[in-house]
Amino acid sequence: MTTKPYREPSIIIIGAGVAGIAAAVTFKKAGFEDFVILEKGSDVGGVWFWNRYPGLTCDVPSQVYQFGFAPKADWSRIWATGAEIQRYHADVVEKFGLREHLRLDSEVTDAVFDGNRWDVTVADGTRHRADFVIAATGVLHHPFTPDIPGLDEFAGATVHTARWNDSIVTEGKRIAVIGSGSTGVQVVSALQPDAATLTQFARTPQWVLWAPMGLRQSSLVTKVLLASPALRDRVYGLSLWASGILADVVLRPTWRRRLVQRFARWSLRAQVRDRKLRETLTPDYQPLCKRQVVSGTYYQAIQAANAELVTEGITEITPAGIRTADGREHEIDLIVFATGFHPHNYMRPMNLRGRDGLTIDQAWEKGPRAYRMSAIPGFPNLFTVLGPNSPTGSISLQYSAELTSRYITRWLERFRAGEFDTVEVTEDATTRFNDAVAEAMGPTVWNTGCNSWYFTEQNTIDLWPFDRKTMTAMLTEPDDHDFLINRNAPARDSAESSTR
Ligand code: NAP
Repeated sequence: MTTKPYREPSIIIIGAGVAGIAAAVTFKKAGFEDFVILEKGSDVGGVWFWNRYPGLTCDVPSQVYQFGFAPKADWSRIWATGAEIQRYHADVVEKFGLREHLRLDSEVTDAVFDGNRWDVTVADGTRHRADFVIAATGVLHHPFTPDIPGLDEFAGATVHTARWNDSIVTEGKRIAVIGSGSTGVQVVSALQPDAATLTQFARTPQWVLWAPMGLRQSSLVTKVLLASPALRDRVYGLSLWASGILADVVLRPTWRRRLVQRFARWSLRAQVRDRKLRETLTPDYQPLCKRQVVSGTYYQAIQAANAELVTEGITEITPAGIRTADGREHEIDLIVFATGFHPHNYMRPMNLRGRDGLTIDQAWEKGPRAYRMSAIPGFPNLFTVLGPNSPTGSISLQYSAELTSRYITRWLERFRAGEFDTVEVTEDATTRFNDAVAEAMGPTVWNTGCNSWYFTEQNTIDLWPFDRKTMTAMLTEPDDHDFLINRNAPARDSAESSTR
């Protein structure tokens, strides 16, 4: 094959969360240095930067909730706090020399493909041009606050958990928490002890799997792991392997799934003795159907003398509190919205235009759709890391982000070797992938009859329905048959060859 001379690809990574950090480190390790990371926040970390509500803890054990290229021996707890995870991200950025590539407070407003390269504009008007755009923009980054009548007239304070305001006083207050997902459960547990009253408004009860989330990592384990990097890597490998059990449990209706579901039912029975409250807390769908909530403290918190669970629908917010469908007015000083996110927005509201002016809204008119989480037809030289169908809730997100980043690196290497100028996934390959996804969703627990944020408006499930081995096989080497590989783009201006 005739190849063009060696040239260095310029790359723009959008987002400095788990996906963006994984991409940047992977590219750097592969010898690619011409990249910038544009991050809309004032620090790295993505969800771990934006979320800092009281009680924030990761319900995935720390030994697996970390990058494979940066295993940390000395996690202070088995399930790390949000603050410790955020410090870890900052440390990784320093350790791998990403600071010089980072542009904070840089929200991308436009990313336009001009037929050859990408033209990217930041909110302050700064423009960058590059050969590749990597959209590492995450899933849960647009907080959702329901439009409840009367909200504007509320005399107290309001806050969304994903935009916590540190000046808010919670001690001694009459607090309402709206929402019963992973966030609602954590924030209820954290605020109840010091609140005057805590009222949780739960539209749909959740199964809450018991786990001792406050458990510290023993100092002996830390010492041993610090002394032996080989053992530390083995523990990471083992943790990844063990997390495969979770994928198996959610993907297939076997005795293993039934066992975990029995544990969820037991968690409720063992901790809530009051029959009436237990009935109220019992969901009418299978455990694991929604994103599984894990907590060792929630059931105690909601049974405390100053706590109340309200399942009546909210009809309005009054200046003094919250009125429910039974006509009761709950007097409240602070409303905490733990009401989740607009989960399928991905890069939006960015003006993202691919080939021939195609906008992302046009391409995704029928919902978000990508090829193997990583490429979108009509958008040449653009890849997504943790894009549509990412395995939230089944496979390590760090593993998935690193795997996808290595896959993208294959394309960067081929570009560098002069093998192509633009590459774009085909419509046909994307349809085949999405058909396979739809079929594989059949036996998953997510498809057993509950309403969750996993569902798109088109009623598809935006998750990864395969195991880790399949994911690894799909994202190891690019399959050229699935791509339009173009070697004839107009020659570019060599003065424009850098992102910086
Ligand atoms: P979520 O799971 O989407 O839960 C939102 C909650 O708000 C639900 O209980 C929902 O009720 C309720 N809600 C929404 N609109 C409402 C309205 N108008 N009136 C009353 N209730 C309303 O959001 P989340 O708890 O923030 O969690 C989102 C995801 O973030 C999780 O699933 C997880 O993936 C991730 N997360 C992870 C951790 C971790 O430890 N790793 C911690 C927190 C979050 P319905 O159920 O009836 O819709």
